[in-house]
Amino acid sequence: MRPFTYTNAKNTQEALQETTATTHYLAGGTNLVDLMKEDVERPDQLVDVNNLEFKKIEKNQSGGWSLGGMLNNSDTANHPDIRQNYPLLSMAMLSAATAQIRNMATNGGNLLQRTRCPYFFETSMPCNKREPGSGCGAIDGMNATHAIFGYSKECIATHPSDMCVALAAMGAEVEVQKTDGSSRRIPFNEFHRLPGDRPEKDTTLEEGELISEIHLSSPEFSDNYYYLKIRERSSYAFALISVAAGLSIQNGMISKVGLAMGGVAHKPWKLSEAEDFLKGKKANTENFEKAAELALKDAKPFEKNIYKVEMGKKAIVRALEQAKNRTA
Ligand SMILES: Cc1cc2nc3c(=O)[nH]c(=O)nc-3n(C[C@H](O)[C@H](O)[C@H](O)COP(=O)(O)OP(=O)(O)OC[C@H]3O[C@@H](n4cnc5c(N)ncnc54)[C@H](O)[C@@H]3O)c2cc1C
Ligand code: SF4
Repeated sequence: MRPFTYTNAKNTQEALQETTATTHYLAGGTNLVDLMKEDVERPDQLVDVNNLEFKKIEKNQSGGWSLGGMLNNSDTANHPDIRQNYPLLSMAMLSAATAQIRNMATNGGNLLQRTRCPYFFETSMPCNKREPGSGCGAIDGMNATHAIFGYSKECIATHPSDMCVALAAMGAEVEVQKTDGSSRRIPFNEFHRLPGDRPEKDTTLEEGELISEIHLSSPEFSDNYYYLKIRERSSYAFALISVAAGLSIQNGMISKVGLAMGGVAHKPWKLSEAEDFLKGKKANTENFEKAAELALKDAKPFEKNIYKVEMGKKAIVRALEQAKNRTA
């Protein structure tokens, strides 16, 4: 590990003032510290944001709830208001990592965790995300866990978060504090970016911006929801493919739907075309299968991840069936 300075910020103003181009905010440290040990991340300065005020879950003006950026994943997922009003989010968050990691991991950090592409972690291998211009080891290498949508010739990595897949399905806004003292809100589906020719940049955040809150709109999908996570073992593993599905069903017809996939792209992958197809249709297997076909029709897999196309379709159908048939 390289030398760095450490500052424990007492409040938001102090955290923002301390920021330089090579600063990283330190939240739970469950991703950042691992990457520093592997010499992948090399900050000169860490600004600890654990003492900042953004640790609450509160009702907001749009009739929904806002989640503090520094609140941990366990307290968020297990909060009675979140369990009751946003059970899809709760279910996705509780499928991640282990209880110990969720106790440390924060909501802001979860959004900003980096890819699990093995070449990104291995500093002897080429990786444009870690070392721009060095090449992409995965594109002709071990790409079984990589993207089937939205990638570029510079990077085919996937985003690893479960929480973010549920947020993409439901819709949300990320509020960030800027170093000049102002703040802005970013629609969730514009928060993460596709790799293009700048794969080193995962999000649309600007230098020094601090995630303070995640705003959810009025409660959605509290009856019919499911987060399906397919992984190599049943705990402590990232998704090969995941599906977040939320349905509003009235008299057997779908009035609203939220659908997104994880493990398939550089960002949580919103399935807008499938959502549009399902709106106003009967909630039945035939329509779920048609939606799944639509969702995967533009997939462009690699030799070793071709399995994700059929697996993705089946996962969508299964998640929608589970959402429809939920009784609590
Ligand atoms: C073994 C293991 C298994 C895991 N399995 C899963 C899994 O199955 N599913 C899943 O979704 N996740 C999984 N994770 C990832 C885990 O959820 C993330 O590491 C965690 O959410 C990151 O949060 P953190 O608070 O620890 O962030 P940190 O590690 O402290 O920070 C991560 C990044 O975010 C930045 N940052 C943190 N907070 C802010 C903020 N408020 N504003 C701006 N920048 C900020 C940091 O500077 C850093 O760049 C796993 C992790 C481990 C170690
Ligand atoms: S897929 Fe992206 S993260 Fe993985 S080696 Fe290629 S450039 Fe690096």
